[in-house]
Amino acid sequence: MEAVSWTVLGLESSCDDTAAAIVRLYATGKVEVLANAVQSQNAAHAPFGGVVPEIAARAHAERMDGLVAQVMEAADLRFDALDAIAATAGPGLIGGVMAALMTAKGLALGTGKPLIAVNHLEGHALSARLSAPVAFPYLLLLVSGGHTQLLIVEDIGQITRLGSTLDDAAGEAFDKTAKIMGLGFPGGPAVERLARQASAPERFTLPVMLAKDKSCDFSFAGLKTAVKRAYDALENPSDADKADLAAATQNAIARHLAQRTARAMAIFKDRFPNLTEPLPLIVAGGVAANSAIRTRLTDLAREEGFTLIAPPHEYCTDNAAMIALAGAERLKRGLTDPLTAPARARWPLDEAAALATPKTGAGRKGPKA
Ligand code: AMP
Ligand code: MG
Repeated sequence: MEAVSWTVLGLESSCDDTAAAIVRLYATGKVEVLANAVQSQNAAHAPFGGVVPEIAARAHAERMDGLVAQVMEAADLRFDALDAIAATAGPGLIGGVMAALMTAKGLALGTGKPLIAVNHLEGHALSARLSAPVAFPYLLLLVSGGHTQLLIVEDIGQITRLGSTLDDAAGEAFDKTAKIMGLGFPGGPAVERLARQASAPERFTLPVMLAKDKSCDFSFAGLKTAVKRAYDALENPSDADKADLAAATQNAIARHLAQRTARAMAIFKDRFPNLTEPLPLIVAGGVAANSAIRTRLTDLAREEGFTLIAPPHEYCTDNAAMIALAGAERLKRGLTDPLTAPARARWPLDEAAALATPKTGAGRKGPKA
């Protein structure tokens, strides 16, 4: 008899969130999140104004098994009720990635269940389906602390990357801005809070990134330099100064994201001329929590015949439910991995696009994501 559902334990530890979740995918396409737990490490990284890889790796290793026990208990399941164990196998900070992947390998070996090595970006690409039945294909803007990408998602393993950041991720742009102004970590929420008090953001002129570049790529490094210069030029910056600069930065980031997304929308429409409007634009990643960015994207979507879909916050930021769902979708298609599956610091979802545009987030060892 064909399976009517797939129940998968998912583990995630590729950046600074340790997470475990259990998801059940039905043959009908219905998705049930049976348990979902995340432990953020914000307090551990806050003194440094950014994620410290060694601190993250140690914290993941300490917490991973406890989180597994927690979600098994919350779902009231025994290991024999699971159909597979999935874990993020990359891309990410390698010491962290190993924590989830090695735990998953141990559990797979001990229980005899198959292992599924999931690409973290594929998890984000599917996250909207944890809370609502969104049909393929859709356009996805992924804006997190580690990634900024525009993707066309057609199916599992069929994801086309239209653009990616050449340097920092959008979340890093917020975090670095906050660090320059001494606002604490994570920077995004702090910058947004302060920006709400701005009265004259237009007094700061910040650069339009990649103004002459016709691609869907992103760049935030120049913005960071400009913010630093503007901040250093202020003598004894007042709260009002900081609020105006925070709002100017937030506006510059929102404008850049919207401008590149508009381009990706045109490509999506060309690729799928027979789809009925409104077309789906999904925004995921921690930065998607930002209301100024959401408003901007909502307006753009309305103008261009799209509808903006944002997963609930718990599925927007790093989580293991999306990894479990990607695992279940893979299991459904018979895609499992051997226990030799490697942890990968670099693992582009769309290998062909990553190799064709190596300027995008590339290093000596090849493209990261
Ligand atoms: P993630 O990598 O998906 O876990 O998301 C974390 C990133 O999202 C960090 O860089 C945060 O600064 C950023 N972030 C979280 N909330 C907001 C917000 N309200 N506005 C802008 N960025 C945010
Ligand atoms: Mg995170």
